[in-house]
Amino acid sequence: MAPCADELIERLGLTRGGMTLIDTARARELYDAMGPAREISGGSAANTLAGLAALGAKCAFIGQVADDQLGEVFAHDIRAGGIDYATPVRAGDPPTARCLIFVTPDGQRTMNTFLGASQFLPPAALDEDAIAAAKVLYLEGYLWDPEEPRAAMRRAIAAARDAGRQVAFTLSDAFVIDRHGDDFRALIAEGQIDILFANHVELAALTGEDDFEAGLAALQDKVPVLVVTCSEKGAVAVKNGVRSAVPAEPVVRVVDTTGAGDLFAAGFLYGHVNDRPVNECLTLGAICAGEIISHFGARPEADLTALVKARLG
Ligand code: ADP
Repeated sequence: MAPCADELIERLGLTRGGMTLIDTARARELYDAMGPAREISGGSAANTLAGLAALGAKCAFIGQVADDQLGEVFAHDIRAGGIDYATPVRAGDPPTARCLIFVTPDGQRTMNTFLGASQFLPPAALDEDAIAAAKVLYLEGYLWDPEEPRAAMRRAIAAARDAGRQVAFTLSDAFVIDRHGDDFRALIAEGQIDILFANHVELAALTGEDDFEAGLAALQDKVPVLVVTCSEKGAVAVKNGVRSAVPAEPVVRVVDTTGAGDLFAAGFLYGHVNDRPVNECLTLGAICAGEIISHFGARPEADLTALVKARLG
């Protein structure tokens, strides 16, 4: 990731604030155009788990990297955070996934992702005992696009449900909903999703309602817990028909919004698995999101537990 001027976003024809999938040639072109950059572990669900583990939750991660240096760094960082990670590395091409992130002066992130090995997470890599033992299975919509991880996630949902566990799902980005909205609406209608995370753009894409209130009304009775984030306007949750809201935490400067939603989900889920009231889950989400947007990268740098203690006692 690297800071960049607004002008570069235009010149490179990037989708400002969005996530675009790219191939190897485009990755090379964008990397050449980037200023001095930093390499930081990422991945949407992995960021959420990093936040959860930092708060003290016991976590296991399932995800595919290749047998290369980026894969090694990713595995190191996730394990160093205290997270169990046992998915075997994948030999040969393609290499480990990477995301080239351009951050404009307003802190907005524009992501360009080369999915690499992550597209080939096979259902056979699932640790179904770990899934059955976990209170919540958390899935990211980004990986619903490639076929193998989609099959793996369907199997993971079945394993969690068979064990009487909860399934949380994040819609990730409007482009995934454009392609797989019917799958998501079916999963919701079948009662397979207990906790659904979306931002306001994804809510509109899933429901077809541009108006926020109409979008919430269309979805809130279909999932037990619905959490919708609205960037600087905070977030709303509807749990069993009861609505709560939280403002964004004040931050001195918004440096980089990469991972805001990921870390919001971390804080919310930490509260949820500890049976905290929903308004406290929202506040925990806002605290974690506030930390992540105050610096570069989507992995927490401050002591989240200390931040929460200072804020909530
Ligand atoms: P996503 O990253 O999934 O698009 P949002 O942009 O809705 O998610 O942000 C998630 C949370 O991060 C918000 O609810 C808020 O707490 C915090 N946040 C995001 N952007 C800002 C901002 N510009 N100023 C203050 N807080 C923000």
